[in-house]
Amino acid sequence: MSFDAEPLGRCPECGTEIAPDFLLIEYESGGRPTRFAECPDCRDVVHPSAD
Ligand SMILES: [Zn+2]
Repeated sequence: MSFDAEPLGRCPECGTEIAPDFLLIEYESGGRPTRFAECPDCRDVVHPSAD
């Protein structure tokens, strides 16, 4: 694999790092990119935090 699989961020619920594979949708809201991803740990749809 030659692409860079950078994590999307962390789950705000449990702190698990969310891999790009779990990205559900990405869109811009008021000029800011917003992402929804499924947390592999909680199995919940969350906004991954960049920190
Ligand atoms: Zn989680």
